[in-house]
Amino acid sequence: MEQGGGKLALGWVARDASGVLSPYSFSRRAPGDDDVTIKVLFCGVCHTDLHVIKNEWGNAMYPVVPGHEVVGIVTDVGRSVTKFKAGDTVGVGYFVDSCRTCESCSTGHENYCPQLVLASNGAGFDGATTRGGFSDVVVVRQDYVVRVPENLPLDGAAPLLCAGVTVYAPLMQYGLNAPGKHLGVVGLGGLGHMGVKFGKAFGMKVTVISSSPGKREEALDRLGADAFLVSRDPEEMKAAAGTMDGIIDTVSAGHPIVPLLELLKPMGQMVVVGAPSKPLELPAFAIIAGGKRVAGNGVGSIADCQAMLDFAADHGITADVEVILMSYVNTAIERLERNDVRYRFVVDVAGSLAPVA
Ligand SMILES: [Zn+2]
Ligand SMILES: [Zn+2]
Repeated sequence: MEQGGGKLALGWVARDASGVLSPYSFSRRAPGDDDVTIKVLFCGVCHTDLHVIKNEWGNAMYPVVPGHEVVGIVTDVGRSVTKFKAGDTVGVGYFVDSCRTCESCSTGHENYCPQLVLASNGAGFDGATTRGGFSDVVVVRQDYVVRVPENLPLDGAAPLLCAGVTVYAPLMQYGLNAPGKHLGVVGLGGLGHMGVKFGKAFGMKVTVISSSPGKREEALDRLGADAFLVSRDPEEMKAAAGTMDGIIDTVSAGHPIVPLLELLKPMGQMVVVGAPSKPLELPAFAIIAGGKRVAGNGVGSIADCQAMLDFAADHGITADVEVILMSYVNTAIERLERNDVRYRFVVDVAGSLAPVA
């Protein structure tokens, strides 16, 4: 066991690049005046977790306790904490601290802080590697905790903390939240299905663009998209050319983006949130003609995350989830690698881990 001076925690951990998770006892940092101690109830399983535990990005600091889509209950607060009290239902997302002084932090875009402290496998300011939500307790500074509205089901709310805000924040930032505008959502996975839900709640026309014709019924009937395009069908793509105000591209496998840019109206906005390992191919003419714009987006700020949760609660939006016990998590990760999940695994953490005295 590792000593961190604080509460004993029980989690599941990857010890090497096999990525296989197994039980692990460690100690959280001793809570400071500004800290909120949270009993973890549910934690989503994100593609990023998969990349990190298998060291696919070369940055794993083993042992890695994954998890950054945390919903839980506050059990204790430090003496300076004013935003939360014991018993509150709260969430923790992709990051748990930032420098608070850089330009990004000073302008409400702390998600782009160069010293961002990730919730899992991150470098904390105390020098310790952060350990994520696949554990029974987390300790987080109050400014990096969000309130989960009462009417949201807690399991379906967990993926909002990363997948939800990752699509909501850029739609807001680029004005792709206006009724009547036409939004294209590329890819129908964890991120894409949230894009459809938010787009429809904004009153937009939503078209799903997928390489899998088999997802048509799912997109139209179950998720309520207005139209469906098979990206490999040149006729369908041509018929929709120049019709979209914005596109959010959630695909993390390599794919051509020029056919997608052709779907945009002049001055249309494409936002990239999926991260293929190979570079995107972007000939200049594809954006010069029509003055089109391509931007990236990484999660969202804490304020974005709170606004997203409040909006989700008002509109009854949650992720479609498959709730699992921690004992199933290795199988879940294998299935996630094959995209065999609709649309997010969420670990019932409190129901899986024995209480720690
Ligand atoms: Zn994530
Ligand atoms: Zn900063």
